[in-house]
Amino acid sequence: MDDHLERELIEAYPMLYDHDAAPSYGTTDFPIECDDGWYPLVDGVSAAVSAYAETWDEEIRFVQVKQKFGELRIYAKPSPASVTAMIALATELSTRTCERCSRMAGAAVRDDDGWYRTLCNSCWEESES
Ligand SMILES: [Zn+2]
Repeated sequence: MDDHLERELIEAYPMLYDHDAAPSYGTTDFPIECDDGWYPLVDGVSAAVSAYAETWDEEIRFVQVKQKFGELRIYAKPSPASVTAMIALATELSTRTCERCSRMAGAAVRDDDGWYRTLCNSCWEESES
């Protein structure tokens, strides 16, 4: 994800992203390993999990955020049932949301020679050409 967008997430949800256990590669902060089109999904689930953590006075950390097999995968520690459910919703929505442009219409998981990505029709055509 674009550095600027990553930084916005880290600043908005420091408990989730800015912690000692967070992996950091070189100069990048917490790496969010998916394309910018999923920013609204990552932002939404981060807001929901933060609200949950605040309500129940728990400390929850995201240890990994990435794209795998065309799906958004978020690993939280700890991950109580409610948080697991919030993340599952974001993962489900990610299979219907273009990872590049956020469009939902026509978005589907595509198999690009074994490299799975969720793309809308126009982003898929662009990647094919
Ligand atoms: Zn698209």
